[in-house]
Amino acid sequence: MWDGVLQGIGNLASAITALLLAEMVVMDVVLPPWIPTIEAFESLAGKWQAMAVLGIMNSSIAFWGIGGLFALPALLKVSRWKIQAKTCDASMLLRSLPLITFNHFLGAVLALPILRYTLPETSFDWRALPSTNVLARDVCVWLVVEEVLFFYVHRWLHENKKMYAAVHKLHHTWTAPVSLVAIYCNPFEHVVSNILPVLAGPVLCRSHAAAFGVFLFVGTIHTLAVHSGYWICDDKGMHDEHHAKFSVNYGVLGLMDALYGTYQLPAGTKSAD
Ligand SMILES: [Zn+2]
Ligand SMILES: [Zn+2]
Repeated sequence: MWDGVLQGIGNLASAITALLLAEMVVMDVVLPPWIPTIEAFESLAGKWQAMAVLGIMNSSIAFWGIGGLFALPALLKVSRWKIQAKTCDASMLLRSLPLITFNHFLGAVLALPILRYTLPETSFDWRALPSTNVLARDVCVWLVVEEVLFFYVHRWLHENKKMYAAVHKLHHTWTAPVSLVAIYCNPFEHVVSNILPVLAGPVLCRSHAAAFGVFLFVGTIHTLAVHSGYWICDDKGMHDEHHAKFSVNYGVLGLMDALYGTYQLPAGTKSAD
């Protein structure tokens, strides 16, 4: 078990480092030149309308833009770097798209008011971007909170047979997933298992909206990658193995799974048992 726990701690440390680096690049380099444009857009469209447009743009670029790119190898039936031998069913993906689209916009519709009414005014002040110390604290809290909440909710959706049959089974109709099916699931599951664990940390920390935007962007790319079916994933194939085996890897980073003895990597992975 302790070997797995150490791996989980290593995965958490890597995730904290990568996310903090992305946050610092955006706060220090990418965002500052755009602040006058964003403020002009806010005074033209209204503060919350502008926030809605920016939020949807951010999640759409990550989900449809990068998610679309991640789906290409599966659609083109590239066999190199594939985790499972199964090929992607393009017509099944096409049939899944209406629910995927619905869930994507459900996320935006729910997240915006939750953030607006739980975060302080300063979280939406573009002239008060968070310091590196605040970002470091936030990133640690967000990732731990997400790991714990996602693990327990996801495991509950499996172990409660009624919930599995009524809710989570839909996501598992994809035994060999492709990027965009990351949010092919019952909308109830999307809210309790995907949206709330991601929102809980930033609400708890009273984080800045811009910092949350980076977390959402990076987190979306992560979930697309781990559903891509290819070794472009950053979890050593852990979630792909969950889709193949069902009863292992309920968490995001492997830390909670290591503690509960459900951490398992695909056969042939260097650090697999
Ligand atoms: Zn999945
Ligand atoms: Zn599952």
